[in-house]
Formats: sequence, C-alpha cells, structure tokens
Amino acid sequence: MAEKRDYYEVLGVGKDASDDEIKKAYRKLARQYHPDVNKAEDAEAKFKEVKEAYDVLSDSQNRARYDQYGHIDPNQGMGGGFSGDFGGGFGDIFDMFFGGGGRRDPNAPQRGNDLQYTMTVEFKEAVFGKEMDITIPRTETCDTCDGSGAKPGTKPQTCGVCHGSGQQEVVQNTPFGRMVNRRACSNCNGTGKIIKERCTTCQGNGKVKKQRKIHVRVPAGVDDGAQLRMSGEGESGLRGGPSGDLYIIIRVKPHEFFEREGDDIYCEVPLTFAQAALGDEIEIPTLTEKVKLKIPAGTQTGTFFRLKGKGVPRLRGLGQGDQHVKVVVVTPSKLSDEQKELLRQFASLDGEQTHEHEQSFFDRVKKAFRGD
Ligand SMILES: [Zn+2]
Ligand SMILES: [Zn+2]
Repeated sequence: MAEKRDYYEVLGVGKDASDDEIKKAYRKLARQYHPDVNKAEDAEAKFKEVKEAYDVLSDSQNRARYDQYGHIDPNQGMGGGFSGDFGGGFGDIFDMFFGGGGRRDPNAPQRGNDLQYTMTVEFKEAVFGKEMDITIPRTETCDTCDGSGAKPGTKPQTCGVCHGSGQQEVVQNTPFGRMVNRRACSNCNGTGKIIKERCTTCQGNGKVKKQRKIHVRVPAGVDDGAQLRMSGEGESGLRGGPSGDLYIIIRVKPHEFFEREGDDIYCEVPLTFAQAALGDEIEIPTLTEKVKLKIPAGTQTGTFFRLKGKGVPRLRGLGQGDQHVKVVVVTPSKLSDEQKELLRQFASLDGEQTHEHEQSFFDRVKKAFRGD
C-alpha cells in the first residue's frame, strides 16, 4: 500500500483550519472527484481519500488523536489508522448522490425473457430427425387489454405525482448542500401509470401465464447436448419490446447396440472362434437395414470393419458418417467331450500351421517370459 498522504494536505487546509474551513474544503473536493462527475481513472481513489480525511478531521476526538499520532492509531495497532469503517461510509454517500436504483425509464420497451426447455429424444430420432409438439408454460401479453392492464374501454392514466417518469425526487440538505435523491414513485410504484379499472383477465399485470403448444423440428443428425434456438418463442416483451427466444436442449437416450461418436456409429459383433478362423459372411444391423459383412479367414478379435455411409447424416453439408463394426471372438465356455477332443487334436497340429504374424506374436510372448 502506498504511503498515506497527510489528511490536511489531502483537503488542502492548514493544521489550524477551523471546522468550517474543513467542511468547505471537503465539499469542494468531494464534488470535484465524485465518480459521477469525474471520469478520470483515479477519481474514485481520490474521492475515497478525501472522504477518509474528512471523516477523521471533522471529528474533534479523532482529529486530536491524528494530530498527536498521525496515521498510526495506538489503540488499533499498526496500520489500523482511522479507515476501519470506511466501506460503509462510502456506500452511504453514494446512495446520497445516486439515490439508489430506480432510474430505468418505466415507459421504455423491454425484451421478453428467454426460456429453456430440455427435450429427450430416442437415439434414432436424433439420427433421422423428428417433428413434435411440446407444451411450455410462458408469460404472454394479455389479449383482453393488449398488455395495458386496464379494463377494455379504459386507458391507464399518466401518474400525476411523477408525470409518468416513475420517479420521485426528494430534496435533502446534506453537508454538500441540497442533494436531490431519486426514488421509485410511491403513487404508481415506479410504473409511471395509474390504472383506475383493472383488466380482469390479467388483474392489471398486462401479462398472463399460458400453456403454449409449440411445434419443434429436430433436424436429422443432432447430437446429445445440441441446442436449438427458436427465435421469438420465449416470453412476450413489455410495452412493444420483442419477445425472448426459446432454447431447446436436446438429450439423446443411449441405444443398447449402437454408440455414436460425431457422425460415426460404433457397434460390437460377436464371432465364434470357427467364424474368425475360417471366415464367414454375417449380417450386421445398421440404423436403417441389415447388411452383409464378409469376415475374412484368420480375423483377429478386436478388428474393425467399416460400413461406408451407414452412419449419421451430417447436420451441415451432404453425406453421412460410417458405421464401424468391431468383431469380438468369443471363447466357448461349455464344450461337449467330442468338441474338446477335436480341439486337442487341433492343438497338437497347431504348432506347424500357424501364420507368420501369429508366429511373431507368440515369439514376442515367449521372449517376454524369458525376460529379453
Ligand atoms: Zn389484461
Ligand atoms: Zn408516479
């Protein structure tokens, strides 16, 4: 923290300045550095410094202590200074200047709120798209009064107290002189209007909650987590403001056979040892139909086969992803005595007939056992 400036120096007064001189100096500087008036980057820091100096020097006890000890207050330990309650004081003075919230023009058009809806679809509905109706609760402009809140045939009157601004000005005398404090008009609750006879449909709100049916087109190829924006299908705006948007979040249910990664589909198909060793032609389910897949002789477990164009239609642009089929060789767990005998015969012949790459695979395992 930078070295604190002397409080008298901050206010630009002498050590023997009277209370009145201190007050005058403070008013002048507070006006000069107030962040509302002064847009310089250090204006707020300067303003705080001035306020702190004034807080201390305007209190005769604090001033006497400051005169004796300077910025270090022996009662609060090193560095405590007089700034302990500073935050609160600053807030108060801000409120005095700005009058707190309530500055928004009550007659300005206001955009309606956005809405969000989560929609769960089946795996294949996401792939091929779907059209459906959903029902959402949303706030809409009241048809009976066209949003005015007044009974049909009557009109809201401009508030006579605030003349439609929705704000009331309260004049206060403060150390800086007369301050104008703005607050929401109590006569019209800040709306700027008085409704003598309320619309009975909306009780004068101008808005009603409705269950609204909306037709949604889920495009083919959407994935889990996709977001559809339906422009203008959110809540109605106020005073002629535009409606908000409706965001539909798509959740896709998992499928028990297919898995999806982007535009590609993955699946796993079991093969018997004989099919893998001797080769076969098997049927594979795809998203649309069954297709035949040729398994070459000597297929290893974990091998992938690609079915081109059997994946998900691409959301943007033409074409489709692929389907990837992983074959898994299933080791039989229940064998008849005859099958066991045949496998034993097979095993005794196996040593001489293995393929080259299998040989190298078994060689690597042997080497690993030897510790090479
Ligand atoms: Zn109404
Ligand atoms: Zn008013």
